[in-house]
Amino acid sequence: MNQKWVYMFKEGDPKNKNLLGGKGANLADMTQLGLPIPQGFTVTTEACTEYYNNGQALSNEIESQIKSCLVNLEELSGKKFGDNTNPLLVSVRSGARVSMPGMMDTVLNLGLNDEAVVGLANKTENERFAYDSYRRFIQMFSDVVMEIPKPRFEKIIDEMKEAKGVKLDTELDANDLKEMVIRFKALYKEVKGVDFPQDPEVQLMEAVKAVFRSWMNPRAIVYRRMNDYPSSWGTAVNVQMMVFGNMGDTSGTGVAFTRNPSTGENAIYGEYLINAQGEDVVAGIRTPSHISQLEQDMPEVYTEFMNIAHTLENHYHDMQDMEFTVENGKLYFLQTRNGKRTAAAALRIAVDLVAEGQITEEEAVLRVEPKQLDQLLHPMFDAKALKAAKVIGKALPASPGAAAGKVYFTAEDAKEAGAAGERVILVRLETSPEDIEGMAAARGILTVRGGMTSHAAVVARGMGTCCVSGCGEIQINEEEKHFSLGGMTFREGDYISLDGSTGNIYGEDVATVEPEITGDFETFMAWADKYRTLKVRTNADSPKDAQNAVKFGAEGIGLCRTEHMFFEEDRIMKMRKMIVSKTEAERREALDALLPLQKGDFVGIYEAMGERPVTVRLLDPPLHEFLPHTDEDIATLAGEMGITFEDLKATVESLHEFNPMMGHRGCRLAVSYPEIAEMQARAIIEAAIQVKQEKGYDIVPEIMIPLVGEVKELKYVKDIVVAAADKAIAEADVTLTYHVGTMIEIPRAAVTADQIAEEAEFFSFGTNDLTQMTFGFSRDDAGKFLEDYYGKGVYESDPFARLDQTGVGALVQMAAEKGRSTRSDIKLGICGEHGGDPSSIEFCHKVGLNYVSCSPFRVPIARLAAAQAAIKNK
Ligand code: ADP
Ligand code: MG
Ligand code: MG
Repeated sequence: MNQKWVYMFKEGDPKNKNLLGGKGANLADMTQLGLPIPQGFTVTTEACTEYYNNGQALSNEIESQIKSCLVNLEELSGKKFGDNTNPLLVSVRSGARVSMPGMMDTVLNLGLNDEAVVGLANKTENERFAYDSYRRFIQMFSDVVMEIPKPRFEKIIDEMKEAKGVKLDTELDANDLKEMVIRFKALYKEVKGVDFPQDPEVQLMEAVKAVFRSWMNPRAIVYRRMNDYPSSWGTAVNVQMMVFGNMGDTSGTGVAFTRNPSTGENAIYGEYLINAQGEDVVAGIRTPSHISQLEQDMPEVYTEFMNIAHTLENHYHDMQDMEFTVENGKLYFLQTRNGKRTAAAALRIAVDLVAEGQITEEEAVLRVEPKQLDQLLHPMFDAKALKAAKVIGKALPASPGAAAGKVYFTAEDAKEAGAAGERVILVRLETSPEDIEGMAAARGILTVRGGMTSHAAVVARGMGTCCVSGCGEIQINEEEKHFSLGGMTFREGDYISLDGSTGNIYGEDVATVEPEITGDFETFMAWADKYRTLKVRTNADSPKDAQNAVKFGAEGIGLCRTEHMFFEEDRIMKMRKMIVSKTEAERREALDALLPLQKGDFVGIYEAMGERPVTVRLLDPPLHEFLPHTDEDIATLAGEMGITFEDLKATVESLHEFNPMMGHRGCRLAVSYPEIAEMQARAIIEAAIQVKQEKGYDIVPEIMIPLVGEVKELKYVKDIVVAAADKAIAEADVTLTYHVGTMIEIPRAAVTADQIAEEAEFFSFGTNDLTQMTFGFSRDDAGKFLEDYYGKGVYESDPFARLDQTGVGALVQMAAEKGRSTRSDIKLGICGEHGGDPSSIEFCHKVGLNYVSCSPFRVPIARLAAAQAAIKNK
């Protein structure tokens, strides 16, 4: 039998989202539950893949299966494609496994042609409505499927309104719209060189192909990269009979959530518009009414709607985001999916659903997107500053949080300013999927148009970015980059502040504070901790960071970088003295001056961490980084150090390296200058002894030697460290346990890990360097060309953000296995950026590492990701 590429909603397997896409699977599910769904069919994601394998063409087999489903649909609906009495019209909707803004816009009213428009007019007894639908369809099909720019059509509309001396579209009558259809078709022909397709089948096949093409459009590629979705998934296409919410006052369309997506409160939340079609609610052209108004307008429809909403929530055991349309008093559901929500809402809903007995703790843990937790840890307005600030406007509180920053008017400017370290507020008339990167770079988003379910609102909530939408009072000029509100004018770079929880807008830079964590968060994270097996540590170089991380649940420090300590003002001179020393004696003298400072740093960190393990890495960067580079700075320093300019300049030049990241750094420094490692080891041990004596903490320092590629170099440095440590312990006449281990960050170390483990008591995978060295490109330079790689589909994600499991991951796995083969109880961890990335954490779980270590703010994310990895891989 031939492969099945197309499924009627009645026959699709609702569990198979991979094949039918999320929208298609749920339409099948709702159909099979007996809910009122306009019928239709789904062209599978496999057909999308087949389309690409087939040189971007639909195979005959796929086309013929689509056609036979159309015949089925005609029978089911009693309507006929292209008919002049009762025409079948359909929507063509994209639908990947997961919902993806950035994909193709939906085409509504497909099937209209010169014949069917007469049928629609006859059936609805409304000629104006029919021709309005037809001209909209031509516009939408031309834009979405044929990529003819929208403004060309809008120009015609404007011309016609002007000729007639009217302002509003609604003032055009049926005859005007007939004329408009003629002009639109002429424009189509002018651009495309062929007539607007009259054959509904041709229209449909073109639309299906356009959906498949949209899977590879730049917005979709960016969105997938941001969310770790592979391009191999493909998208499905849903073809569904049209229902009309724009047939008068007993018709309408809306969007609703079964619980509040901002707070999680268990109460229906939504908006609808009387006499409107599909996109109108989302596009924010008219401001919709609250769903409770439906109870007044159409009580029976409201009751049925609420019943179905409850049915769906109980069926999916999760908060639902639903689209519905009422056609002449008859209710239809057009979509349901697990609703996007803020982190606070996600926690509350997960905790409530467990309390309601709908889901288990383990299921609850899987419900919250780890990266989302970030939102809960981000700033709120400082109460005092907020009181003093003046509200200059108010709009819809579309996505909570507080944001203060400089105004930018285009996604591109926002992206640029964000990359330059500015706090960005993106101000737009309305947002669209092209704006996604600019939105991601912004701390806050303000739109003039759009409701709580507008594009800006939905995307911002997903990203955890503060958003205030639908501020109609704003007068904006996007081209000239300024807007006015509350009697003030703002230009690019001016400060404003947004409160996404109240909708308030402030015309100034209002101070923000760190949020506090309570209630649902504690309950939920306790579940996560119960199910995870990976430990979570933090990368922290200061007592303050360490304290913060402990507050977020860190169980130790996986990476304490010592070089940061030498950049501080009171240290840098001493460090430089050490570096320019000509003899060992001179260098020792300089190091002696650094020792108490270094020891003080460790005391602070141990005190903050209590008995939690702390891994301290010996000096890692090339020495050159500590020295001044301009002649002016060199002269100043030479003066301060009492040496000549020429002398210092010569030293600086002698330390210059062509490729410092692969130069004299890491353990290589200790091989050349053992006294540096000696001083650091002594500081680490003496600090531990001091805190043990003063606080009674039993501290077991872990000393980590970086950038090892060969066991002998590790042994050389380790012997120095052990000698210094033992000497310090003997001098204090105490007992103290400590461990010496290494970073695995050079491919050679991974390959020879069995030998390395003879000396190392622990490995910490430094996956930043390991990624650079394995790929052979540097993290600092890769940004310049990786964009080309994404665009050309060579790489799908940034290997510095998401661990490359195939290459770098294979080295990690190999080193873990080799390490254990030599030393069965070797402790294994990861301390690169990847230690805070959920998909990389799952990999670490699978490979059997003992812990991941990440920046303090990512600790909760890592705890949750580790729990999810454990539950998924049970
Ligand atoms: P999106 O993923 O952007 O929400 P959808 O495919 O869900 O795109 O459709 C966009 C809008 O069009 C929604 O409001 C939806 O309810 C409406 N719509 C889609 N198909 C139909 C249909 N067959 N009849 C009426 N409205 C429809
Ligand atoms: Mg939708
Ligand atoms: Mg490194």
